[in-house]
Amino acid sequence: MSERTVHRSHDVLDPATEQLIETVQLADVDRTDQAIEQASVAQRGWAALAPADRARALRRFAEVVDAHLEELALLEVRGAGHTLSNARWEAGNVRDVLAYYSAAPERLFGRQIPVAEGVDITFKEPLGVVAVIVPWNFPMPIAGWGFAPALAAGNAVVLKPAELTPLTAVRLGELALDAGLPEHLLSVLPGQGSVVGERFVTHPLVRKICFTGSTAVGQRIMRGAADQVKRITLELGGKSANIVFEDADLELAAAAAPYAVFDNAGQDCCARSRILVQRSVFDRFMERFEVAVQGVRVMDPSSPDAEMGPLISAGQRERVRSFVEGAAEPVDVLFRGSAPQGAGYWYPPTVVRPRSVQDAVWREEVFGPVVAVLPFEDEADAVAMANDTAYGLSGSIWTRDVGRALRVSRGVQAGNLSVNSHSSVRYSTPFGGFKQSGLGRELGPDALDSFTEVKNVFIATSE
Ligand code: NAD
Repeated sequence: MSERTVHRSHDVLDPATEQLIETVQLADVDRTDQAIEQASVAQRGWAALAPADRARALRRFAEVVDAHLEELALLEVRGAGHTLSNARWEAGNVRDVLAYYSAAPERLFGRQIPVAEGVDITFKEPLGVVAVIVPWNFPMPIAGWGFAPALAAGNAVVLKPAELTPLTAVRLGELALDAGLPEHLLSVLPGQGSVVGERFVTHPLVRKICFTGSTAVGQRIMRGAADQVKRITLELGGKSANIVFEDADLELAAAAAPYAVFDNAGQDCCARSRILVQRSVFDRFMERFEVAVQGVRVMDPSSPDAEMGPLISAGQRERVRSFVEGAAEPVDVLFRGSAPQGAGYWYPPTVVRPRSVQDAVWREEVFGPVVAVLPFEDEADAVAMANDTAYGLSGSIWTRDVGRALRVSRGVQAGNLSVNSHSSVRYSTPFGGFKQSGLGRELGPDALDSFTEVKNVFIATSE
């Protein structure tokens, strides 16, 4: 939740070594107000540009990001402990999302609707200033999923990175200027949630909040946004299910399962942190899964071989531990992978079997490398167990039966499902949650709708 103590600066530590990387100055309310007002002025100029000029500016921004891919990736390795291969993908994702939405300014079509005695047309108008609030788990992609479509739709953006991970967002803000985007159009404001984030909610010139983070803070933002009927998009937590049926390719399902939950050290809202295995193949799956978990390479994230790095902070490691070592209900650890000793916020990949579906490790988002496994009886049981959660973000279904794959996909209440795969995110397809996992959709063609208002204009033609 939001912190109440006001800080002027934040020490960014390398999660793999606990060494200080940089002390970042934090914006206060006055600086936030100034950025919002400057953004409001910049937005009017930006929206008045020819669509082709806005498109070209976004393409240039994508090219500049591309030219700095390695620099951005290395910054994320040090500042957030992401593995090098993940961080390269993440920087590339910012480039790709910018390139994808650079096509939008020239394609923000309205409609012509048949009416009597005139012509009726609709326009997709920008909202004005859009605020993007980013969590620490995917600092670059989540920033880009907000700012790229927002800018493409003709808005200005004020962006607040998470306190723990401001470095790549600040650099992206500089690269936007290098690419020739107008000054103040994209302002990056490192700061506290309780200061900068809350001001985004209360400032009348901010017309929309695009928030990714915990469900608790999302609920608070939703309540605050009600005062000004402010638009919101919320991407919140998850407790997604990985469902393995007896007719699945068990080798493939077991080999892939660790990466569906331990990627980014489990700090992933789409993590499949509950594995549901049909009882008839439970033991066979678990034998293969154990081998796969022990094969996960947890090591210095700057190594090209690293598959998992450290957790983001000492506090996060304590939180993760509390679900296993300090749980109110005893948790049976079935097996573990390895992790380096010494400095750094390391925690090994851990597989547990809860004693009840009421256990915290089965119900709550751990946001760390801990996965809980339980057997199920049949298809109806699998769907019921998968849906027995307040969340609904993602999930996987492993089966060779096409009919079952479709039935279960339709039955699971979640926004992003994959069959015989764990992929959740493609920049060209919609992403978002059911139930308490969120509100609205990011990415793909749908995202632009949530950064524009539809305006209807009737023109009389009768004499
Ligand atoms: P968090 O909610 O504590 O913080 C997220 C952001 O909100 C940070 O920038 C923070 O400074 C800011 N914030 C905090 N209090 C605020 C307030 N009162 N007003 C405005 N802003 C405020 O979450 P976190 O710990 O940074 O991230 C972890 C959570 O994010 C997890 O629960 C995870 O599931 C969720 N998440 C969801 C998605 C998704 O797409 N659904 C993606 C990534 C992370």
